[in-house]
Amino acid sequence: MSSLQPEASVEALKGVGPETKQDLARMGIFTCEDLLWHLPHRYENVAIRPVEELEHDAQATIVGSVQGSPNVNYYGRKKNRLSFRLFVDGHLLQVVAFNRAFLQKKLQPDMTVTVTGKWNRHRAVLTAQRLDIGKPEEMRPYSPVYTISGKLTVRQIEQWVKQVIQQEVFPQEMLPLSFRQQYKLPTIVEALTTLHQPQTANALKHARRRIVYEEFLRFQLRMQAYKQTLRKNERTEPTKFNEQETLRFVDGLPFSLTNAQHRSLEEIYEDLRAGYKMNRLLQGDVGSGKTVVAACTMFAVVSAGKQAALMVPTEILASQHAESLSELFQPYGINVALLTGSTKASDRRKVHEGLEQGSISVVVGTHALIQGTVPFQELGLAIIDEQHRFGVSQRRALRQKGNPDSLFMTATPIPRTLAITAYGDMDVSRIDEQPRGRKTVKTYWSKPDMLDRVLDFVKKETAAGRQAYVICPLIEESEQLDVQNAIDIYDQLQSILIETRVGLLHGRLQNEEKEEAMEAFTRGDIDVLVATTVVEVGVNVSNATVMIIYDADRFGLSQLHQLRGRVGRGALQSYCILLSDPSSETAKERMRIMTETSDGFILAEEDLKLRGPGDLLGQKQSGMPDFHLADPIHDYRALETARHDAHALLQSDTFWQDADYQPLRDHIKEQGAMSGKKLD
Ligand code: ADP
Ligand code: MG
Repeated sequence: MSSLQPEASVEALKGVGPETKQDLARMGIFTCEDLLWHLPHRYENVAIRPVEELEHDAQATIVGSVQGSPNVNYYGRKKNRLSFRLFVDGHLLQVVAFNRAFLQKKLQPDMTVTVTGKWNRHRAVLTAQRLDIGKPEEMRPYSPVYTISGKLTVRQIEQWVKQVIQQEVFPQEMLPLSFRQQYKLPTIVEALTTLHQPQTANALKHARRRIVYEEFLRFQLRMQAYKQTLRKNERTEPTKFNEQETLRFVDGLPFSLTNAQHRSLEEIYEDLRAGYKMNRLLQGDVGSGKTVVAACTMFAVVSAGKQAALMVPTEILASQHAESLSELFQPYGINVALLTGSTKASDRRKVHEGLEQGSISVVVGTHALIQGTVPFQELGLAIIDEQHRFGVSQRRALRQKGNPDSLFMTATPIPRTLAITAYGDMDVSRIDEQPRGRKTVKTYWSKPDMLDRVLDFVKKETAAGRQAYVICPLIEESEQLDVQNAIDIYDQLQSILIETRVGLLHGRLQNEEKEEAMEAFTRGDIDVLVATTVVEVGVNVSNATVMIIYDADRFGLSQLHQLRGRVGRGALQSYCILLSDPSSETAKERMRIMTETSDGFILAEEDLKLRGPGDLLGQKQSGMPDFHLADPIHDYRALETARHDAHALLQSDTFWQDADYQPLRDHIKEQGAMSGKKLD
């Protein structure tokens, strides 16, 4: 028992000095509690067996005494190899450890050491992964393996954790007894102790279960409480839109909406009619027609005498949307303005004026919309297209301009488990149906040496009046190289496709040049557009029927799906050709999947398996918390349970009144609104 508090600095522990403190800080460990949450990433079985029984090439742990002095060889920069002889039960063997030169002085002749590593039976060499001075204090079936940094050793971490556990420096118990009984969960003290010092596999399983459940429950409580507070605090007047006029607008569209579009729109109107602010995610695969749903929503809000803003990630997309919206809104006398980084100062002033006075009702733009102060007379609706391209703070910045109703649109089909984790604070509408008459894009995977045949096909299609995209990959490390790559391909295609008008579009072009290239392609003045992934999102040229993607294996499946979605946007049969010759089996498998399915959901699930959630949700921008143990994909059942429980709890009086729930209540209050930062 001691006076040590969970938030005490690790310095309070025996054996932590200035240097080790720094190494710990580098791993985000500052306090005793941080150390406790530094959970082993795996466990080793340390049962000790006689040398004769050790298997060749397998993991082994042995205890022996050091013979003579260790030897160190240095090679390369900062690399070294420590070796010494070890006497074990009448056997003399060799121990090798890489980059542990600092142990040379510590290892004295006849000293007892415990070594875990890989055993080479033929040469009688044990290559150490772990080397501890002394005998193992107790024979435990599992030995924790911790991530370490700098000169720290696993053994040191183990020692410090042990001190923390001995002094009973545990975080507060969050789960009431009733909960723990219902799910047969150990206490937080038991769970954390077991995770660091497991006795049995079964205990380990339950300890893990407990932490995972708690993490999900806390997360879901925060999310759902936040959603409730939003609704309560932002209780507002309903948006009184002109329902008849809006219906007429929908009827006047050049096509009739799909059922899914209708349904989504109805959900949106329900939000507008209600006494809370809309906070909705509109999810729909590429080409499912989200823009027109956005347009109908804007129309409704404008009919209520308010303004609407649409924020998109690229300038190209902004001008395209502005143009198509102008066309739709013109007959109704609704003015649409464009506002991007390259809008000239004089034009910008005019747009600002129009927005301030209310003569402009709809503004489409990029980040420029949230930079500086764009004056709105009354912003009633903020729509964010391709929302995963924006950071949490950017999404919020637009919402904060006058507390409008908000609609977030995404083409990334987010698997359900991820959606409730990352977007648990939003309502979700889904457009799960493509407009009628769409043909699936025929997708082929072709080796680069077939380029001639591919280009013949391009010639044929362009001769028939169609258009093609040729995508050169972005290699993250160097934009310059990418641009060069695009220019090379452009030059090459120009010399091969002599009768074809080839255009070029990449990130290094001036904004006007970009726009000019895109407009020329939209008008049909260019047949083949060589581009980097700047065309990935949103652009809409329905006469384009061919999409060729160089080095396709460099892209994620969802990204390929997005790119492929640039074609097949009308009634014409379209084609996507993946040029790639990957060597790895997984890459080949991914190419195969692309040719076999056009279902964005399946592709997203595959991406999730292959590349993790970061790729799907936009790196570090998802608002997804870093859990210590919980994994929304792997532990999705626990997540569902926690979501359900959180919902029931928030509705119950017990939760708001019982002393048992005080810690969880405090937790919700403390964390307050969702912050995009790490939530735990
Ligand atoms: P996305 O959901 O990928 O943003 P868009 O909104 O750009 O898709 O729509 C893709 C194309 O489908 C556009 O050309 C649009 O005019 C057309 N479209 C949208 N809804 C329908 C519909 N109900 N019937 C026919 N075409 C539609
Ligand atoms: Mg779109």
